[in-house]
Amino acid sequence: MLITADNIKQLNWEKCDGMIPVIVQNAFSGKILMQGFANTAALEKTFNTGLVTFYSRTKDRLWTKGEESGNHLKLVELSTDCDKDSLIALAEPVGPTCHLGTETCWDNDAQPHLAFLSDLQDVIASRKGADANSSYTASLYAKGVKRISQKVGEEGVEVALAATSGDKDELICESADLIYHLTVLLQSMDLSLTDVIDKLKERHAK
Ligand code: AMP
Ligand code: ZN
Ligand code: ZN
Ligand code: ZN
Repeated sequence: MLITADNIKQLNWEKCDGMIPVIVQNAFSGKILMQGFANTAALEKTFNTGLVTFYSRTKDRLWTKGEESGNHLKLVELSTDCDKDSLIALAEPVGPTCHLGTETCWDNDAQPHLAFLSDLQDVIASRKGADANSSYTASLYAKGVKRISQKVGEEGVEVALAATSGDKDELICESADLIYHLTVLLQSMDLSLTDVIDKLKERHAK
């Protein structure tokens, strides 16, 4: 169930003694970023500011993540589970979430497989504007949309050839090439995998 400023009271506050666990998940990659606790005041502040706010038991006060570091968590959507005693906050992190300077409070290898596509896209995006000699991705951007489009076409054909020849290892390699080059092409057109996923979801809803 979706939680908004208007239905905070419907959470099972008695069961959790006024302090509900909040799991914060990256709204795009699905990575679990951190976990904290919230009381009603923390949720109210979260909705008023749009920034995920907890009740810190160590600080013994409301704590907006990023209040000192600037590494805020912008709330995208808050939802509760079947018995309303736990919350997931989908968020867009600004900078690293862990106070140790890492993206999440958990090991990166403890994250869902598909989240790797997000990491890959971040690396690809970070190569924009870099010296063309500094990396293969940077050299592709430098060659421009037309050349990158050609590469996507070639890789698409290679995927098809691998599949028709029945070579599964080759199909995996060519699929990797295709996904990589397609991600570069989208970035070079100022688009991202999010735009494609939104379209897939739109179709799925029909
Ligand atoms: P921040 O909220 O990022 O400004 O950090 C302020 C303080 O909150 C830090 O010095 C830590 O003590 C604590 N802190 C920040 N991030 C986390 C986290 N992900 N998990 C637990 N404690 C944190
Ligand atoms: Zn529950
Ligand atoms: Zn941490
Ligand atoms: Zn290839």
